[in-house]
Amino acid sequence: MRAGKKITILGSTGSIGVSTLDVLSRHPDRYSVYALTANSRIDGILLQCERFHPEVAVVGTPDAARILETALRGKGLKTAVTYGEKALCEVASAPETEAVMAAIVGAVGLAPALAAARAGKKVMLANKEALVMSGQLFIDAMSESNATLLPIDSEHNAIFQCLPVSYQRSPQRHGVERVVLTASGGPFLTRPLDSLDKVTPEQAIAHPRWVMGRKISVDSATMMNKGLEVIEAHWLFGIPAGRIEVVIHPQSIIHSMVSYVDGSMIAQMGNPDMRIPIAHALAWPDRIASGVAPLDLAKAGYLQFEKPDYGRFPCLKLAYDALQAGGATPAILNAANEVAVQAFLDKRIGFRRIGDVVARVLDRVITERTISGLESVLMHDNAARKAANSLIFS
Ligand code: NAD
Ligand code: MG
Repeated sequence: MRAGKKITILGSTGSIGVSTLDVLSRHPDRYSVYALTANSRIDGILLQCERFHPEVAVVGTPDAARILETALRGKGLKTAVTYGEKALCEVASAPETEAVMAAIVGAVGLAPALAAARAGKKVMLANKEALVMSGQLFIDAMSESNATLLPIDSEHNAIFQCLPVSYQRSPQRHGVERVVLTASGGPFLTRPLDSLDKVTPEQAIAHPRWVMGRKISVDSATMMNKGLEVIEAHWLFGIPAGRIEVVIHPQSIIHSMVSYVDGSMIAQMGNPDMRIPIAHALAWPDRIASGVAPLDLAKAGYLQFEKPDYGRFPCLKLAYDALQAGGATPAILNAANEVAVQAFLDKRIGFRRIGDVVARVLDRVITERTISGLESVLMHDNAARKAANSLIFS
């Protein structure tokens, strides 16, 4: 028997996955790894298996599984190897695991995150796209199975830390007037608007404060990331769109705030490093060391805040509107954005066309007011992807 709580990490080779393993490695008596998953980075997951000895490893395809299995056996390791979406759902819901880090990027992470929620796990949610797409479905699955949902997104983790423990999605009862999400503004905050057509993927993913995966880095540059986070905050904290404010704070020292009816505003601060929210969620309600240096306020100097400009960041406005429209509209927004961001990364469209494609898909795809189930979410996701692809390739 190995020590501590057994954790499944969905997306272990990504930026969040690697940071999670870094925190776990600091607390070998407290945690062990049940399962690791990767899509195509076999070398990456092989090294992780050598170091963390998971019981199961999941990869994207049968070929990848064969290669990984041969390499593992060659090193005398017993980790079982499987592949595909069903296997991801199995390791997310297996009785052996207590807590699941949901850190696959994009819509593909929805089914396994939902499987963890339905199985009553402690779900540490990094994959914001899952919650944006499925909203009420996800929240209902959590409450029916008595699962615990802990936000990993730094803003939502900050808000969670600034709310009373008894909060439970009821802002009125606890005197919450609004939540304030901070945004760095990304790499193009001050760049002349007419030059944005020419920016390259490399420039867009060079985030000034955070080191992250490619997709979320582009989302940060368009501020669609903040838009998705507005929707995420709505579902996590039960707060209407009108009470979720976004403020640009280029230093990324305050990770978000809660404003109360008595005029108090509580903020969570720290160096911009995802190991802080990861350690918080892993140990909650305790605290453990994360490996992040304490904040040096004198070195930080001063903190700036400004209102976001929708002219520069149209994606933020599209996300607020999608949340107001409700039903499957956020799922359509998310799917169109995923396709447009990939097309930008593949150099098929310019940076400013990302928002344009999303807006046009939202106009084209007919949506239902309420989503009846996962099939309905996936149907809208699929329709939005088709519409986005036809706009990009026509
Ligand atoms: P990343 O691109 O670095 O890693 C993504 C992970 O998902 C990888 O392990 C990859 O193997 C896996 N994956 C990708 N496609 C897959 C597929 N088709 N099937 C199975 N697995 C697949 O991304 P990231 O930056 O770590 O972000 C992960 C999630 O966390 C995203 O939803 C992102 O929005 C969210 N998030 C990230 C950060 C951050 O600082 N990186 C902060 C907040 C929220
Ligand atoms: Mg965030």
